[in-house]
Parts: sequence; structure tokens; C-alpha cells
Amino acid sequence: RLTGMSIADPAPGLPGFVHLYSGKVRDLYAPIGDDGRAREDQLLLVASDRISAFDFVLEPAIPDKGAVLTQLSLWWFEQLASIVPNHVLSTDVPAEVAGRAVLVRRLEMLPVECVARAYLTGGGLREYAADGHVSGIRLPEGLVDGSRFDQPIFTPSTKAPQGEHDEPMSYAAVEAAIGSGLAARARELTTAILARGNEIAAERGILIADTKVEFGVVDGELVLADEVLTPDSSRFWPADQWEPGHTQPSFDKEFVREWLLSPESGWDKASGEAPPPLPEDVVERTRAKYVEAYERLTGTTFAR
Ligand code: ATP
Ligand code: MG
Repeated sequence: RLTGMSIADPAPGLPGFVHLYSGKVRDLYAPIGDDGRAREDQLLLVASDRISAFDFVLEPAIPDKGAVLTQLSLWWFEQLASIVPNHVLSTDVPAEVAGRAVLVRRLEMLPVECVARAYLTGGGLREYAADGHVSGIRLPEGLVDGSRFDQPIFTPSTKAPQGEHDEPMSYAAVEAAIGSGLAARARELTTAILARGNEIAAERGILIADTKVEFGVVDGELVLADEVLTPDSSRFWPADQWEPGHTQPSFDKEFVREWLLSPESGWDKASGEAPPPLPEDVVERTRAKYVEAYERLTGTTFAR
């Protein structure tokens, strides 16, 4: 899935590390231990500047995106520390990847994408429009794009193998996959992360419509892994422009998705072919949105 990208090498070699895997956005390495072998208990998680949409890695990359995602996740891990433990070990990383990498505990990951929604939009809205349910949850009638739920709802999806699309999962299917105890905990934590995230974001004029988190398991307890409450994993909306009934303006890659679907891009999603390269102004505006999300949320200036 990483073929055809214009960037030189999706996973450059890093002295002292072994490259294990590259996802759509992240390159994963294992540190080489004192015995000269790859450590099995740690990972170096390097966020690249790659951007994906509709499960395609797009060209070109978005400058600074990897650093924004890494720095914002680190900030959120701290904000959420009283709710959930996380996988972070250290930010002392090789200079080549400074700012966009983090050393983490390597965990056994739950085979579930844990999604919570505070507002109805995107894939949730499409499911609702079809039969009034989202991930098996029956919702009241009359909801529209951007409607807010009383409480965040848990709408998990499958973690599809590379090249396949994630599919909505009912709560019963999650229980069958990971057991009822872990399922209940995953639902509780995922919705609590979104609720707490929204309390904090509200002070900064941002609504977090929905988000996806991933958990690992340590001694039967869930540990928050991967990334958290970033513009890649969440929809961020300016609070003062929230108006249910149509697509909301956003600080995330919804903007890129809309450009791809617009006549301007000339791309037919149904064709199954790779999307065209992003024009320079779309790249620049996307970068600006990622940086603005970071700066508004953390209240600090983004410095590379
Ligand atoms: P795909 O791997 O299907 O491309 P993706 O695009 O979401 O999915 P990336 O975000 O690029 O993948 O890569 C991150 C990968 O690292 C994910 O597969 C995620 O589950 C995994 N991961 C994140 N944190 C940990 C951790 N602490 N231990 C083990 N795996 C982790
Ligand atoms: Mg990911």
C-alpha cells in the first residue's frame, strides 16, 4: 500500500533500530538492545508527513504533519492521564525523527478500532440514513448531519487488514471478539476520552465530533496506544460555526476528503483507482489546518 509515493523512502533506515512495519501514516521500528537483537517490548513510533484518505496514501506529503500529530498526541496523553494509562516511554529519540517520534511500550493491540461519536456525521450519518442505526445502536428519528448526542456513543469498527476497509461492529461482536469485560472497559474509556476531550476543547472553541482510539492490553488492563485526539483520528469543528443540517467546517482532513470528492479533483471514488496528487494550495491549507488545531487546543505556538 505504500507503493507509488513520491517521498523518497517510506521508512528510512535509523541507526540502532530495526524497521518492522509501515502503516499508512506511521513507520514502526524496534530498538536494538544491548544483546544486539531487536527488543520485543518497545517500539519507536515515527509519524511521517504522509496523509491518507479513503484508505489511499495521497501525494504529496503534508509538511510538519508528523510532528503535529506526535506533539498533539503527547499533549493529550498528559491531559487524559487521570482517565487512562498510555503507552509512552520516552521522547528521547534519534535526531533524524526528532519531534515526530516517540518510544512506546509495545503492546498486544485489541483487534477493534474504538470509535466514539459526540455528533452525528460521516460514516455514522450514512449508516443512520440507511436504517436508523449506527454500529447496531438504534438512534432517535429526525437527526441530521451535525446533530449532537446527549452522551457520546460507542461505535466500534473492525481493524481491517491492510487494503481492506474497516467495517462497523456491533457491541455484541466486540464482546464476542475480546470478551465482555474488556468490551465494557473499552466502551467506558473510549466515550470518557471523547467526553473529557470535548470539555477541554470547548474552552478553546473546538468541538470534537468523533474520534478513534486504539488500546493495548497489559495484565488484563487497557492501555491507550497509537495516537489520540488528533486531526487524523478525530473530526474537529470550530464551535462558533456549529450548525446542524449540513457539513460543518473543520480543522482536519475532511477538507482533503471534500476536495477529492469535488469535480475539481476529477477523481471518481467508485473507480477504485488512486486519487490524483493534491494541488499545492490544498497541501498548504491542510498544513495550516493541522497546525491551527494544534495551536488552538494546546494554547501554544507550533515549533518544528
Ligand atoms: P494500517 O496499519 O492498516 O495502515 P494505520 O494507517 O492506522 O493502519 P499507522 O497509524 O500508520 O497505521 O501505523 C500505526 C500502527 O501501529 C497501527 O497498526 C497501530 O495499531 C500500531 N500501534 C500503535 N501503538 C502501538 C503499540 N504501543 N504497540 C503495538 N502496536 C502499536
Ligand atoms: Mg493509525
